[in-house]
Amino acid sequence: MTSTSPAASTSQARSQPRRSPQPEVVEPTPRPPLSWPSVIFFAAFHGLALLAPWFFSWKALGVAIFLHWLFGSIGICLGYHRLLAHRSFQVPQWLEYVITTIGALALQGGPAFWVAGHRQHHAFTEHVNKDPYSASRGFWWSHFLWLIFPDKDCFNQEKYNKNAPDLARHAYYRWLDKNFLALQIPVGLGLYLIGGWSFVIYGVFVRAVILWHSTWLINSATHMTGYKSHDSGDHSGNVWWAALMTYGEGWHNNHHAYPKVAKAGWTWWEIDPTWWAINLLQKLV
Ligand SMILES: [Zn+2]
Ligand SMILES: [Zn+2]
Repeated sequence: MTSTSPAASTSQARSQPRRSPQPEVVEPTPRPPLSWPSVIFFAAFHGLALLAPWFFSWKALGVAIFLHWLFGSIGICLGYHRLLAHRSFQVPQWLEYVITTIGALALQGGPAFWVAGHRQHHAFTEHVNKDPYSASRGFWWSHFLWLIFPDKDCFNQEKYNKNAPDLARHAYYRWLDKNFLALQIPVGLGLYLIGGWSFVIYGVFVRAVILWHSTWLINSATHMTGYKSHDSGDHSGNVWWAALMTYGEGWHNNHHAYPKVAKAGWTWWEIDPTWWAINLLQKLV
C-alpha cells in the first residue's frame, strides 16, 4: 500500500499549501424545496435515538461506540474521505470494496454521492451556491439543512458521474449508491439477534445520529472556528474537540491546505486515529 504522509512529502507539501479560490461575492440562490421524506427519515432516527435512556446497558453503549468508530473512522474518514474522495493513499481493489461497504453502513449516502459532493466542497470551498454545504450560508445550512433542502444541482446522477467518474464506473459502487439504506436491515437484524432491542436502539439509532452530527460538525463548526496553521484561503480551522469526535477530521485547516496528504494531524498533539489505522493497514497489506 502506498500513501502520502506529511513525512513522505514534507518539502513539497509544506512549501505549497493549496489555497481555496476566493468565492465570488454573489447572492445565494433561493432555498430549494423542502424534502419531506428526508425530514421524516431524520426525525424518525432522532426520535428513536431519544429512547436511549429506557434501553440503556453498558454492552449496548459499547456496541454504539464500536460501530461509531468502525463506520465513522474506517468507513467515512478513512474510506469515503481520505481514500475515495482524495485518493491520498491506495489499497488493493478488494480492500477498497470492503472499506467502501463499511462507509455505506454509516448512512451518509452511497460512495459516488458522498465523494462527488465532497470534491465539489474542495473545488468551491465556501462559495455560497457552488459549495453544497457552504458555511457562508450559515451554521445550520452547512450542518444539516443542505440535506433536507436538497439542491438538484448537487443531488443528481449526472453530477456524481462528473465529479466522481472513478466511482460511478464501478457497478458495485452504483449499486451501493442506490441500496445503502437497505444495508441497515441486516445490521439491525444482526444486532437484535445478539442483544435484543437495546442493541438495535444503540447500535443503529444512537450510533447513526451521533455519527451524523460528528461528520456534520466538520462542515459547519470547523469552517467557523479553530486555529489556522496554514493559509488555506478559506475559513477552515483546526478544532480539537471536533477532531476527537471524528477520529482526526477536525484538523480541517491542515486538510484544506493539503487535501491530498493522508495524515490530517501534523503535530504530536493533533491526534489523528484515522491516520493510525492507515498506518496499520500500510504495515499489514
Ligand atoms: Zn471543509
Ligand atoms: Zn476533504
